[in-house]
Amino acid sequence: MIRTSVVVALGLTPAALMGQAVGSLAPDVRQYISVPETSVALTNVRVVDGTGGPPIEGATIVIQNGKIVSVGPAAQAKVPTGARTLDLTGHTVIPGLVGMHNHTFYTTRGRSVQLQFSAPRLYLGSGLTTVRTTGGTSPYHEINMKRGIDNGQIPGPRMHLTGPYLTGAGGAATMAQISSPEEARRIVNYWADEGVTWFKAYTDISRETLGAAIREAHKRGLKFTGHLCSVSFREAVRLGIDNLEHGLFTNSDYVPNRTPDHCSSDMRDSLLKVAIDGPEIQQTIREMVNAKVAMSSTLAVYELSYPDRPPLEDRVLEALATEAREEYLSTRKETSARAAQSTMPELFRRAQAFERAFVKAGGLLGAGVDPTGMGGALPGYGDQRNYELLLEAGFSPVEAIQIMTLNGARILGVDARLGSVSAGKLADLVVIRGNPVVNSAEIRNVTIVFKDGVGYDSPKLLASVKGLVGIR
Ligand SMILES: [Zn+2]
Repeated sequence: MIRTSVVVALGLTPAALMGQAVGSLAPDVRQYISVPETSVALTNVRVVDGTGGPPIEGATIVIQNGKIVSVGPAAQAKVPTGARTLDLTGHTVIPGLVGMHNHTFYTTRGRSVQLQFSAPRLYLGSGLTTVRTTGGTSPYHEINMKRGIDNGQIPGPRMHLTGPYLTGAGGAATMAQISSPEEARRIVNYWADEGVTWFKAYTDISRETLGAAIREAHKRGLKFTGHLCSVSFREAVRLGIDNLEHGLFTNSDYVPNRTPDHCSSDMRDSLLKVAIDGPEIQQTIREMVNAKVAMSSTLAVYELSYPDRPPLEDRVLEALATEAREEYLSTRKETSARAAQSTMPELFRRAQAFERAFVKAGGLLGAGVDPTGMGGALPGYGDQRNYELLLEAGFSPVEAIQIMTLNGARILGVDARLGSVSAGKLADLVVIRGNPVVNSAEIRNVTIVFKDGVGYDSPKLLASVKGLVGIR
């Protein structure tokens, strides 16, 4: 990001020095823009600023040249002459969402597709202005997507790239299957040179390989996360990991008689047995908090395995391609048919309690959709569902919004520039019709998404991908 403050002070605002000026955007991006002006005032709006503070009613937000100039009571706002004013009575503004587990590929049982067209549009249209990919199955697709977005060729969120999944022998076909520390270092350096800023380990990696990969990434100033199993949370914390994905669902600390470096099929059972308020859970949380290891909540993807949940949304079914829709609905039916035996309701409740306990102990929790698994948690739409699931977990609305915005920015190390509705930060804002603090479902009523101060027409972005999820 190029600093504009000096230039603005001199009264010069050349397009090249702005975050992403409208003039530099390709026609395919410009067609989605509803607020192109560089000077904008949002008035009479409720603001949930992302810091966890109470909503501010009747506020005015002034945006200039891609940045938030001021936010606060109307009486104190200095609206520049000539600014475009949007009266947002009855609307709420929150920071642009920062998605911490936001793949650009999508799966159903049996299908895995790179959503090169629909993922960036769904994310931006749903209010995500920043995402971390958290494991790529087609890294060059993501490198080129990020370039296209940064160059103004593709509408989408700013992207923090994660390299290919790193795992051991026998992993999935798209993953780097690493059998030695030397190989781990070579692969980390290769992808670091290609521009990724995060790495993600997967379920069947050894402690030795993981440790070598983490150290090599840190040497390059890059960060490391994991969806683990063979290495437990506490072991990974000791190896220096920065972030752990999925919360309790992937925590193998409580497997009895664990074989080190081995992913045990007993993990789920151990999670159902461990005392959720007990000392073992607290020890994991304490070690994570002490080492400043963040955690990503991905409740929306796990909810797909919860019988008869989530509520079916028309917009999800409409976004899906016919075959993908049939695949999702048939898996959903099978899950419902096994409802009586399902342990998921209990496990889900425990995972929610774990996330609450982690935050209560001072842990840094972010959230992201993870648009994989059975195929019912779509990019963006599933992030919005996460909001309701975090409320169900017991977080207050302003806490849940903080988890989905400022906390993500903190994990990414970009919170000085974005993540809250604060003067001086980038104007990444979501305008929502209604009040999601009182009625959580209204988080879906996004009308405009500002990224770098440019206002995108959310319904138009979302309409552009109908029938395409599962294909492109
Ligand atoms: Zn993932």
